[in-house]
Amino acid sequence: MKVTILGTGTSQGVPVVGCDCEVCQSPNPKDQRLRPAALIENRDQRIIIDIGPDFRQQMLRADIPSISAIVLTHEHNDHMIGLDDVRPYNFKQGGTMPLYARASVARDIHDRFGYVFAKNPYPGAPRITLHHISNEPFFIDDLKIIPIESIHGRLPIFGYRIGDFTYMTDAKYFERSELEKINGSKVLILSALHHREHHAHLNLSEALELIKEIDVEQVYLTHCSHLMGLHDQVNLTLPSNVKLAYDGLELIL
Ligand SMILES: [Zn+2]
Ligand SMILES: [Zn+2]
Ligand SMILES: [Zn+2]
Repeated sequence: MKVTILGTGTSQGVPVVGCDCEVCQSPNPKDQRLRPAALIENRDQRIIIDIGPDFRQQMLRADIPSISAIVLTHEHNDHMIGLDDVRPYNFKQGGTMPLYARASVARDIHDRFGYVFAKNPYPGAPRITLHHISNEPFFIDDLKIIPIESIHGRLPIFGYRIGDFTYMTDAKYFERSELEKINGSKVLILSALHHREHHAHLNLSEALELIKEIDVEQVYLTHCSHLMGLHDQVNLTLPSNVKLAYDGLELIL
């Protein structure tokens, strides 16, 4: 299985529009972060986790010719507002795009993309088949996907474990039983916003404390704000099993 991290920025992305801080002005590509998303490639399957506002650009940049399914973590714009851009895949692949989300996220998709689900949608509208998931393992073809719930502010959201890979973005709190599902993963992608306290996101020190409680080989931090600091400088301060993720990071598992 191959994983490509397509975006590692927080909701505004990095650089932030109009910001002249040293991170937003950095020429290092690792300081340029699109909104969070990941690609899982397993034999002939291609599964995308989250389709934020940069979805189209991410598909172009990673040169993704086809998508088997999309899995959503939660309903915030930076994770799902790119849905209209599944159309090129509808046209090329035929049929509808399978989209997996918990019921609350599916309701939100219905509200925000009502035209997709209209009785007589206009020709060319995205074609989506919504699959409601709960906190139980499910399969896309023969690939087993295990939801892991975290609390994001007040919102219960999902991350996912697929084999030895676990993807947890926008996390703040975990029940012990959910955290234990991560144990034994080779790679964990975990969100860490920046250095300050935030009501809905782990900050860097909270993420590092949490990592001490989990049995994983390597952790990459995602959903980083420009306030996190320069990629290369922050990496020097991290424990040996933790690094900042960056856009385009490829992992073979
Ligand atoms: Zn987010
Ligand atoms: Zn900035
Ligand atoms: Zn969020």
